[in-house]
Amino acid sequence: MPAELDLSRRLPEARIPELPNPYFGKVRDCYDLPDGSRLLISSDRISAFDQILAVIPWKGQVLTQLARYWFDHTADIAANHVIDYPDANVVRGKRVTILPVEIVVRGYLAGSTSTSILTQYKAGKRQMYGHQLPDGLRDNQALPQAIITPTTKAFDGGHDEPLTAAEIIDSGLLTQTQWDEVSAKSLALFARGQKMAAERGLILVDTKYEFGVDDAGQILLADEIHTPDSSRYWIASGYEAALNAGTRPPSFDKDVIRSWVVARCDPYTDKIPEIPPEMIEKTACIYVEAFEAITGKAFVPDLGGTSPLDRVRAHLAPYFTG
Ligand code: ADP
Ligand code: MG
Repeated sequence: MPAELDLSRRLPEARIPELPNPYFGKVRDCYDLPDGSRLLISSDRISAFDQILAVIPWKGQVLTQLARYWFDHTADIAANHVIDYPDANVVRGKRVTILPVEIVVRGYLAGSTSTSILTQYKAGKRQMYGHQLPDGLRDNQALPQAIITPTTKAFDGGHDEPLTAAEIIDSGLLTQTQWDEVSAKSLALFARGQKMAAERGLILVDTKYEFGVDDAGQILLADEIHTPDSSRYWIASGYEAALNAGTRPPSFDKDVIRSWVVARCDPYTDKIPEIPPEMIEKTACIYVEAFEAITGKAFVPDLGGTSPLDRVRAHLAPYFTG
């Protein structure tokens, strides 16, 4: 990590009244422009357990630049929404109608949330998301093959509910043709992600894709791809030992903050304690390390403008309507 990482520069939110049609998501603040494009501004908010846990300096730039890296390296597999990148924290995408199913792909028996396959497996379940898992798998062991564990896309901030392929089609959430296309593309994207991660000493454990339909009816990969927010990565060199010890493999994803929170409360019912500054600093470093490990490139913090919001505003001024 660059020793000079300035932790005072933060983008907690990007509310820009001059931009039209705002949507303030958990992590990104979005605006739909009259020309059919959507600005997605990555803030530095970190979200888990359906809430915002903290603001992590540089996280927004890391996420935007990591998604960019992966969009660039997977465009041959799946057409994506990207038009351009007006700022280090901003992607301008073709606006699509997001399909109501989140395509989660998992290569390992992992996770800690109620919808994760490890949690369900430990509770004795073998049949989940329409898949039959073999007996005798250990915590964090590789699955015989990657599987899709789809969930409903909770547009209203609610909980994601597990689905099977049959339920998705029977309920009309997706047509058979749409399911065939997004499931094939998701498995191919995941395989590419795993292969490229492995070349850099990393394991892409699981991830989530969002697809949408454009005006011409074409399915595009939207949102983000293979970022630490949408994915879990492990460090390959520590994997085998952790598997044997039955401990969580080393990682640089937000499991660090999650684990800290879970050790102190039930995050779904209790008030989450304030994350201490050391944790925030550590997490900022983890995101930067993730960028560098995944891409093999140095992270160059964008120090333009008097503040990140000032810089984002200047870069987005051409789109101001109000
Ligand atoms: P959320 O809390 O809804 O997950 P995010 O912080 O992830 O919000 O912000 C991104 C939002 O924009 C998401 O709701 C995502 O589904 C949506 N989105 C991503 N890409 C596109 C796109 N190309 N067109 C329309 N919506 C998109
Ligand atoms: Mg989201």
